[in-house]
Amino acid sequence: MVKAEISEGTTPAPAPGARVLVVGGGYVGMYTALHLQRKLKAKGRKSRSGDKGGREHGRPGQHGAHDEAEIVVVSPDPYMTYQPFLPEAAAGNISPRHVVVPLRRVLPGCTVLIGEATAIDHARRTATLSTLGSEAEGAGTVELRYDELVLAPGSVSRTLPVPGLADHGIGFKSVEEAIGLRNHVIEQMDIASSTRDPAVRDAALTFVFVGGGYAGVEALAELEDMARYATRYYHNVKPEDMKWILVEATGRILPEVGEEMGRYTVRELRARNIDVRLDTRLDSCEDRVAVLSDGARFPTRTVVWTAGVKPHPVLAATDLPRDARGRLRCTARLGVEGVEHAWAAGDAAAVPDLTSDEPGKECAPNAQHAVRQAKVLAENILASLRGEPLQDYRHAYAGSVASLGLHKGVAHVYGRKLKGYPAWLMHRVYHLSRVPTFNRKARVLAEWTLSGLFKREIVSLGSLEHPRAEFKLAAGGERPKDRNDTDDT
Ligand SMILES: Cc1cc2nc3c(=O)[nH]c(=O)nc-3n(C[C@H](O)[C@H](O)[C@H](O)COP(=O)(O)OP(=O)(O)OC[C@H]3O[C@@H](n4cnc5c(N)ncnc54)[C@H](O)[C@@H]3O)c2cc1C
Repeated sequence: MVKAEISEGTTPAPAPGARVLVVGGGYVGMYTALHLQRKLKAKGRKSRSGDKGGREHGRPGQHGAHDEAEIVVVSPDPYMTYQPFLPEAAAGNISPRHVVVPLRRVLPGCTVLIGEATAIDHARRTATLSTLGSEAEGAGTVELRYDELVLAPGSVSRTLPVPGLADHGIGFKSVEEAIGLRNHVIEQMDIASSTRDPAVRDAALTFVFVGGGYAGVEALAELEDMARYATRYYHNVKPEDMKWILVEATGRILPEVGEEMGRYTVRELRARNIDVRLDTRLDSCEDRVAVLSDGARFPTRTVVWTAGVKPHPVLAATDLPRDARGRLRCTARLGVEGVEHAWAAGDAAAVPDLTSDEPGKECAPNAQHAVRQAKVLAENILASLRGEPLQDYRHAYAGSVASLGLHKGVAHVYGRKLKGYPAWLMHRVYHLSRVPTFNRKARVLAEWTLSGLFKREIVSLGSLEHPRAEFKLAAGGERPKDRNDTDDT
């Protein structure tokens, strides 16, 4: 481990004020940095215009350095993912580039480091980071000192020890997974269309989704809709040849839209011939056979695991207090409980829900809270740096909207329940208003408009995931047995 600043090229400028380290470039990380950047920039401008001698204090707007504080954002990816658009990206309605927001573009006033925090020693105000640079140098990790910490690594898929899941399952949390799954589904249709073996065909056309929250339901509904549409271009694959199965351990799906709308969604999916199995679990998926707790067995090449999330494991590598579920214990002011200068929000944090009458209730892990918490968090950091009073986070859950495929949806927002086309339209309008930056809004709107005018995209670009495969073969390497097994990175 190198105990120094990051390498020359990425070294944050010497801090003129406090260094705020933001771990994570998702909803909380990006929005917190964005608010801090705006507020610090505004203050920087004000202080310079009021400075009669024309003396420069710090360099607001440049690489994370401001008069009052510098902001360093550490994120494994150079972009923030707008996760609610992943199902539409999987369906091909939005291209993958427009589902993500480039951090460097929206955060010009911050230093963005591509890498991961691997441990936090808050007592020493030190984070251990593994960056692309430190890996390339062979140094392993570097240490970075900070004054204020924002810990927002979000969550990861909550898996269970189901035999075969690690080998054959895929999650649905990242743009890579969404696009990989889209390519995979179309590829399965190509396999089914070209095989003479009925068992191979049957397994290729069977798609099992585990978990009936919005990620699972939206992903399944959008992909089924896309695949149903795509069958019109196959001479020997019809919609009724495909089996789409949703496995949910409890007695309801889509709890986010309430019980009545959840029941409607079950009816709507079943009407599309989707096999919704409530009170059922996936027991195993070894040898490409999904075995369910109700005894059903489905040979399949597709198992999508969307059965909830758990806090990011990096939280265990910190000296900060966590609750029984592994989330950081936070106050309503979004500070980590019993600790100074450490802040958290979003999926990684247990934040009291002050709007609930239920004692001990905490905010659910969703984007609605994450975005609003980020704003309060940024305000509170600034207030704390300036010795001003902090504010509590308070937001009553407004409900949810979900897309169930093109022109189909379900919504329960501010007590209003909508189904079908109006709900789908509301889903689009709502998310268009929420997706960060005008640039992304314009691009997404243009794509929706174009896809309304022309036919849907049904091409699989799975080979993009293996760019060296062709060259490797030309250079005398072996042809992979299974395209999915290609190791050509
Ligand atoms: C398919 C899908 C659909 C969804 N739809 C909705 C919806 O319609 N409405 C809604 O309210 N919510 C929705 N959500 C949930 C919502 O996206 C999350 O609640 C929200 O992203 C949480 O924000 P966050 O900042 O805590 O985590 P994230 O946005 O996940 O950000 C965490 C970031 O931290 C990074 N990170 C992880 N580990 C480290 C590390 N060690 N060091 C540095 N960085 C790290 C990650 O790469 C990531 O960029 C959906 C989620 C999914 C998966």
